[in-house]
Amino acid sequence: MANITPYLSRVTRQDRLRISHSRPVVFWMTGLSGSGKSTIASAFESLCVGAGHAAFMLDGDTVRTGLCAGLGFSPEDRAENLRRIAETAKIVASSGQIVVVCAISPDQQSRDRAREIITPAADFFEVYVSTPVEECARRDPKGLYKKAYAGEIPAFTGVSAPYEVPEKPDIVLDTVSDSVDACVKILFDAAMDCAYRPVFLLNEMAKAAAMAATAILEIYNGQYEVSFKDDTSPLTTADTASNKVITEHFRTVFPEYDILTEEEDDGDRDTHGIPKRLNGCGTFIIDPLDGTKEFINRNGEFCVSIGFADHHRVMAGVVAVPARGLLYYAYEGRGAYKTTITADMAEKGIASLFDPAEQIHVSDRVNGLRITASRSHGDKQTEALLEINKDRIGDVLTAGSCLKGCLIAEGEADIHYRWGAFMKEWDTAGMEILCKEAGASFTDMNGAPLCANRADPVNRNGFRILNRPEAALDTDDIK
Ligand code: ADP
Repeated sequence: MANITPYLSRVTRQDRLRISHSRPVVFWMTGLSGSGKSTIASAFESLCVGAGHAAFMLDGDTVRTGLCAGLGFSPEDRAENLRRIAETAKIVASSGQIVVVCAISPDQQSRDRAREIITPAADFFEVYVSTPVEECARRDPKGLYKKAYAGEIPAFTGVSAPYEVPEKPDIVLDTVSDSVDACVKILFDAAMDCAYRPVFLLNEMAKAAAMAATAILEIYNGQYEVSFKDDTSPLTTADTASNKVITEHFRTVFPEYDILTEEEDDGDRDTHGIPKRLNGCGTFIIDPLDGTKEFINRNGEFCVSIGFADHHRVMAGVVAVPARGLLYYAYEGRGAYKTTITADMAEKGIASLFDPAEQIHVSDRVNGLRITASRSHGDKQTEALLEINKDRIGDVLTAGSCLKGCLIAEGEADIHYRWGAFMKEWDTAGMEILCKEAGASFTDMNGAPLCANRADPVNRNGFRILNRPEAALDTDDIK
């Protein structure tokens, strides 16, 4: 076009993601009038916004009152109507939003054109709401079928005008067999997959953990130096080497996410002077070498712990146990798993990510409990706990670092109690999601949920892990 130069924004997709918590995506709902497009789309939009993700519904009837006012229902006008909706959806999605379009869009050509317009800027899902015409006519929410069958509406889709069933829809919603909520959940899961890309995310976390495990073992099997941090905790060259490989990997692959690590200053601030990660769209919470004392004592009970949190909850986690060649991992809603660290994991990630054969679960013991206690930190509260509850405890397992959480997640141990303000978020984030996804509860000492990615990373009120609520011990007199 002559004399027109589109102006490019300076704000990147990643900048927008930090604000909107959504990557550009359009759900294009097609189906007969009364099939359920608006009902589902509106509930889906609310659910997304309620969960902290920018979402916007573009309804075919609504745009006809403004943007597309003046267009009728001839094939040309219908095509132009859909073209305008597609261009609008593209702009709104580009602003970093989940867009849900409701438009009968009766022909495949118009839907394909919408996909063509939108896909350079956003992911596109053709969603077929497959309700048969008889059911739509029975529902008749707007009284249109009655009029159409009486011949009062010319060219009414499904009655006197054709509807082309989608050839290869990305999603099919069956509103006869599935409730509104069930249909909304299908869309929501797809939207969250677009926002967080769980398979990609977990694989990159596994790669980082595998690289870190290699870096740590090289040092473990050779010579290393120990120095002491300001709080007198030990630091080895392995802590630093592990931190380097993990953070470099994440900074390259996920520039949109922030990092909270034991081994770095939490110094990155936003324009208000607040730690940037508090208002970001995702933070990796990293302990590059959890259990430095175990490393120095050479008992193999040290881990690499990585959590990923957004909206102040841990959503994904990996825990590598380098000396045992093991990797535990979990993703919110998808379970917890255990696998061996393979030679190509640092390059390729995990071969079969959500393999039911590798899924782990907590035990169902509620008596004769196997309680884990710290290998390196004995304390008087734990001693009192063991004494008061001795009738219910079958075994005390000592284990270092977040290996305790792994043992509970796989049912080898049942419960763990940790008093005091010693542990930091990076000590617990990875095992928290692992334990929860394996079926445990993971809370502070009062049973309150832990808020992740806080300004102050100290777990001030301790934490406890229970395989079953009934496994809770008597702690009334323990201060
Ligand atoms: P459309 O936007 O496709 O024209 P509407 O959402 O306006 O359709 O109307 C669908 C009607 O079907 C509503 O009255 C809604 O309550 C009803 N309905 C019944 N079951 C479902 C379902 N599982 N999903 C969506 N709508 C349903």
